[in-house]
Amino acid sequence: MSISESSPPVTPLYGRMAVIGLGLIGGSLAMAARHRGLATTVVGFDRRDSEMHQGLALGVIDEAATSAASAVANADLVVIAVPVQATDAVLASIRDSLPENATLTDVGSVKGSFITSVVQIWGEVGPRVIPGHPIAGSEKSGVASSNPELFAAHKVILTPGLNTDPGALARLTEFWRGCGSEVLSMSVSHHDQVLAATSHLPHLIAFSLVDTLAGEKDNQDIFRYAAGGFRDFTRIAASDPVMWRDIFLANKTAVLASLDHFTRDLAHLREAIDGDDGAALQQVFTRAKAARDHFSKILSGQAYLNTMTTQQTRFRASPGGTVQGDIRVPGDKSISHRSIMLGALAEGITEVEGFLEGEDSLATVQAFRDMGVTIEGPDQGYVRIHGVGLHGLKPPRGPLYLGNSGTAMRLFAGLLAAQPFDSELTGDASLSRRPMERVAAPLRTMGAVIESQEGGCPPLRIQGGQALKGIDYLLPVASAQVKSCLLLAGLYAQGETVITEPAPTRDHTERMLNGFGFPVTREGAKARLSGGGKLTGGAIDVPADISSAAFFLVAASITPGADLWLRHVGVNPTRVGVISILKLMGADITLHNQREVGGEPVADLHVRSAPLTGITIPEDQVPLAIDEFPVLFIAAANASGDTLLTGAEELRVKESDRIQVMADGLATLGVTHTVTADGIRITGGGYGGGTVNSHGDHRIAMAFAVAALRATGEITIEDCANVATSFPDFIALATQVGFQLKEESV
Ligand code: NAP
Repeated sequence: MSISESSPPVTPLYGRMAVIGLGLIGGSLAMAARHRGLATTVVGFDRRDSEMHQGLALGVIDEAATSAASAVANADLVVIAVPVQATDAVLASIRDSLPENATLTDVGSVKGSFITSVVQIWGEVGPRVIPGHPIAGSEKSGVASSNPELFAAHKVILTPGLNTDPGALARLTEFWRGCGSEVLSMSVSHHDQVLAATSHLPHLIAFSLVDTLAGEKDNQDIFRYAAGGFRDFTRIAASDPVMWRDIFLANKTAVLASLDHFTRDLAHLREAIDGDDGAALQQVFTRAKAARDHFSKILSGQAYLNTMTTQQTRFRASPGGTVQGDIRVPGDKSISHRSIMLGALAEGITEVEGFLEGEDSLATVQAFRDMGVTIEGPDQGYVRIHGVGLHGLKPPRGPLYLGNSGTAMRLFAGLLAAQPFDSELTGDASLSRRPMERVAAPLRTMGAVIESQEGGCPPLRIQGGQALKGIDYLLPVASAQVKSCLLLAGLYAQGETVITEPAPTRDHTERMLNGFGFPVTREGAKARLSGGGKLTGGAIDVPADISSAAFFLVAASITPGADLWLRHVGVNPTRVGVISILKLMGADITLHNQREVGGEPVADLHVRSAPLTGITIPEDQVPLAIDEFPVLFIAAANASGDTLLTGAEELRVKESDRIQVMADGLATLGVTHTVTADGIRITGGGYGGGTVNSHGDHRIAMAFAVAALRATGEITIEDCANVATSFPDFIALATQVGFQLKEESV
């Protein structure tokens, strides 16, 4: 059902609306205004009587005028909808009859030329002249193609001036919204530049390509065998020639600038083909392939991964099940991210397997592409990075957009502070509110020139060409991001950079730098490196994420008869708290085939069912297992006696208040527990089923799926959609080893 049928007419915004030019756009707008009750009377004028008669017959207009001048007399909205080059003549014909209080607008594809015409006729641009351009249309023309829904869910750009009457602007905006459009505002010159690049240049290329091929000797065959891609690409060459002739002439300056840019880039591709330069071709193609998706993210100010999905799901976990088998859980996010950064800065090719597509990694892949690095993939966990060396990055053409990734922004700040070119780092709305001074301030002491916005927030503007010097810095707060940022800047700094941390944080950057052949020494709380030197690319098989493995470690520990292998798990000492705590509780977990991959320790874990006993969790293990507590609470609920957790107030500010949300779920199942400010006491024993709510916290959802292995009734877990982003294939792996688990959409 169209909106016109479903919604009753609103109070008209205009009494009499005049449309000059009853073609596709003018006719559609007139019809939309009538159908949606936006104007009391719609009068139309076209230089062809036949168009007006047809317009009356089709219900496009209420009245047909005998001249443009008579159409606009008494109108309070006048819309010029003729080809751009006809605007002068139309404006001249209505000059003396346009009522003083009428709003004059147009729909032309070029705005600068409309303003020039207005000035020619009236000597100035009055306060009720508001140029407009609907970004909607088709290659059809004429009043017969009128469609009242043409503008629904499309954008309309208005280009008001400084003296525009705010009331007139508000009403015209409301009018377009009434047609179902989203209204944007920008300056005339910006409009013409943007449209030259995004609409006019593509039309020129399509016209030119079809014309070239039509002139080839075997043109019949070319068109006969043309595949869908060619047809899609050249569809716009069927557009109206007169309209497009006018657009190119009216937007000459901006179109020529875009055309020159494109011609240069095309010549570069020609040179690459001629010179058998496959790397150059691949660089352009991979960048272009990624760019479409990237730009749509920038335009909508989105994160790279949509973590807060609106498609809700719930888990249904039947009681009981087995835990048997041999599996590999998805790759570690932090290591995946750093593999891109260091691979791009290394010399030679870096091949990454087991790559996990997280927000940080995807934002970083795009930023490096923008700086001239060729990156293939990600494709099912495989990424191939053509490293450019520490000094091979190219200046990006515009700001680097990092979506929602705070980690990427902090690490890039360090890296870019040392480059010879200027750069700007931006992100989505939420990243734009996060403070960046904790990296900017120490970088400035190294000699970096960085400007942040109010409150130290992004965008960050970084002035290149600074000679950085090493720093001996005590981190005020333990932060792996700040440490990594300063180490990356230290790669380029003169002398030694020494970072001391008040408490241990994840050390993936230090380990991976060593793995890439760049020496970083660590003594206790200090990490130390000297500038200069190089990184060498290689193969990285990203270790499986121990935080994902943790669900299966607990599952196998609590399920009678369980026997499970978890392959290639990262066992970085800053992350293995979950293994230590489970072992203290009596779990049977053994590490096999211990080895190093890209500087990271990795092992195959073998876990078998064992009776667990409650413990007081040592506080020094808390930071090393901070993400694993939801599932450790389930281990505690299955242990004999009490388990006491203290010193874990940070759990209250994770994706949810993990202490309270877990406690609520445990209460539903009937597990005895007491919540404290910084932890919880859980008394182990049997428990039943029930409905628990994960509050969108992926780790809580998976923890209660594990709990069902020992429950006496079914556990229904609400709000589980986010599991898919943090642990793709959780359901598949869990059912493979013997969980009785189903996901259903809500
Ligand atoms: P169209 O279907 O060809 O309609 C234009 C109409 O204006 C035709 O009926 C034309 O008559 C008439 N006309 C020409 N000169 C006139 C004059 N001096 N007085 C009265 N009527 C006159 O074109 P359109 O697609 O609607 O395009 C109209 C405007 O919208 C253009 O400025 C274009 O840039 C803009 N626009 C078009 C699209 C699109 O996709 N089509 C999208 C956005 C904006 P004749 O047929 O006799 O010339």
